[in-house]
Amino acid sequence: MELRITEIFHSLQGEARSVGRPTVFVRLTGCPQRCVWCDTEYAFQGGQRRDLADIVAEVGSYGAEYVTVTGGEPLAQPNCLPLLTQLCDAGFQVSLETGGAMDIAGVDPRVSVVMDLKAPDSGEMHNNRLANIALLKAADQVKFVLASRRDYDWARLQLDQHALPDKVADVLFSPVWGQLPPEQLAQWILEDRLPVRFQLQLHKILWADARGR
Ligand code: SF4
Repeated sequence: MELRITEIFHSLQGEARSVGRPTVFVRLTGCPQRCVWCDTEYAFQGGQRRDLADIVAEVGSYGAEYVTVTGGEPLAQPNCLPLLTQLCDAGFQVSLETGGAMDIAGVDPRVSVVMDLKAPDSGEMHNNRLANIALLKAADQVKFVLASRRDYDWARLQLDQHALPDKVADVLFSPVWGQLPPEQLAQWILEDRLPVRFQLQLHKILWADARGR
């Protein structure tokens, strides 16, 4: 059983609940979406075919407790599902970063899902799979990456319409790097007293988004 892999690397978790934790990242190749502000376009093509057992063995070699399976869009490769299960079976704390367009129904329930809902300025809002919202667990997270006031107002509406803060562990609001000033987003959240977690991506601050870090 194989997967096409762009990179496997050891770093600090840059976002979400386990931010700052030493984590192994498994970046799967390919994504059917094209968010205008995507910061991992290098994962759209290429990569190397790797056996699942080989991937799990490399993850184990770093001695970290946390593993994040990301992309691209990891769920675009069906063998992502058995990889997630094998990583859980091996005793890792596993999270999955998914763009919100693919069905999460088959994801191992031990995995913490971090699911995007794409806002209007991403250009991919029409691909949000809203049926996924009913499948989210209390340990999961929903992430909004916001480029404008229009995006923010849309995200605020989604919070209410889908009662997201009651469904998941955290709702994350992130500004698009270089487009929406972080202090502006922070101010809106405070003014509206939103029950969300503001976040900046740690790897961009520490390493200017260098690949493999
Ligand atoms: S879903 Fe993720 S990887 Fe795919 S285009 Fe959007 S940001 Fe990039």
